[in-house]
Amino acid sequence: MEYFPLFLKLAGRSCLVIGGGNIASRKVSWLLKSGAQVHVISPEISSALNEWSVSPEYSDQLSLELCSNVAVARLPLEKQFLVVAASSDRQLNQQIAEQCQTLDVHCNVASRTSLGDTILPSIIDRSPVVLALHSGARSPTVTRYLKRQLEAFVPRKLSALVSWAEHWRKTVKQRLPSEVVRQRLWDRVLSGMVAEHLYDGQAVSADTIMEQHLEEAESGQLWGEVFLVGAGPGDPELLTLKALRLIQQADVVLYDRLVSDPILALLPSDCERIYVGKRQADHAVPQVEINQRLVDLAKEGRNVLRLKGGDPFIFGRGGEEIELLADSGVSFQVVPGITAASGCASYAGIPLTHRDHSQSVRFITGHLKSNQVNLEWPELAAPNQTLVFYMGLSGLNEICRSLIEYGRNEQTPAAIIEKGTTPQQRVITGTLATLPALVVSKNVSAPTLLIVGEVVQLQIQLAWFNYTPEGLA
Ligand code: SAH
Repeated sequence: MEYFPLFLKLAGRSCLVIGGGNIASRKVSWLLKSGAQVHVISPEISSALNEWSVSPEYSDQLSLELCSNVAVARLPLEKQFLVVAASSDRQLNQQIAEQCQTLDVHCNVASRTSLGDTILPSIIDRSPVVLALHSGARSPTVTRYLKRQLEAFVPRKLSALVSWAEHWRKTVKQRLPSEVVRQRLWDRVLSGMVAEHLYDGQAVSADTIMEQHLEEAESGQLWGEVFLVGAGPGDPELLTLKALRLIQQADVVLYDRLVSDPILALLPSDCERIYVGKRQADHAVPQVEINQRLVDLAKEGRNVLRLKGGDPFIFGRGGEEIELLADSGVSFQVVPGITAASGCASYAGIPLTHRDHSQSVRFITGHLKSNQVNLEWPELAAPNQTLVFYMGLSGLNEICRSLIEYGRNEQTPAAIIEKGTTPQQRVITGTLATLPALVVSKNVSAPTLLIVGEVVQLQIQLAWFNYTPEGLA
């Protein structure tokens, strides 16, 4: 490790910044936030620096000195705790760094970090929690990329959680003598509903749940929680931030066939994986058994992730699974996912509604019951609406035939989207009359989504993802 990360209390300490452009201003803004006394010497001063120097917040901390010809010999380097060389003159920056080294004063050189002995890292500020990142000055681009990812992932209101936990710490220690039990309680609290309530600003509800957890822990009955999470249609980037956070907190996961491998790769390495997927007419694990298993695992005190393709409440039997949890007193959270209709339509370039073509959209199950699709065909055959059939591949013939029979124009555009949003996505477009034969000739396999309606014709113009023309319009 070439640079050792340290967190320093800068309040009241003298920091000298040479340079007054954008880079210098960014550094000054962080120094001001940490309470430092900042003096800027530069031939030019940015408008931001000028504003801060007279602002009520920072006028006591920031002084500016306009100097057309900065000379190292005249800089008050020896009195500084930290010097930032951020001028546009590279030679000057280098001289400042050398002089600081002689004087044993910390120095950061903004554009060539290796010249100084100090790095000012990229910062994610969730005070009192602060994340600092640097790449040893080798790749600011990688640091920036990582920072963006982390920014999205670290909860904005983390500070609420920290002060709340601080407030409870003593009580928890008094009431739970066992360190192991305490640790389990904190894991549960920080990954569960308590944290969610705090992020939502509901401290009173968080206290109530905490009190319940404490009582459970005292009586040796600290149960886990179930997260019913929608994993979206396939592309892991379509997970919600909340889904990702809960996925990473799971002790055990029960997942379906539709949950893609890149999403499973996000699970913690020590998370137990249980496959409960169903194939059509081949129910791997009966639904009642899944429901019961969720309850049993949570009662063992584990965080149970129930991961389902798309959205758990759209043809996902999510409602049935949480009914038993609710009856059994196990707490749970439901995280919606992007349903196949939204994901596949977007990635295929088919807007589900359109002012000119379609005023409504219906999500329909095309699942066959005793070889028939029993639906309200006269309603579905009405024009100017988009129909999205889930599980419609084996019933495709029957669906297209019935729509035509009940009056929908046989020239109505229709598309099958295979493995939507994944690198294997294929979009096959035709009409109600032509699609069934096309699909057979293209060797299509599940999962597929069927979209019927005038909006499908827009795909020719709007396709953008992984686009290779298939079939005909
Ligand atoms: N809860 C899920 C749907 C489960 S039903 C959701 O909200 O998306 C399973 C059906 O969803 C499949 O038969 C298929 O019709 C559709 N489906 C799910 N993922 C899909 C994908 N990536 N591409 C195409 N269809 C998909």
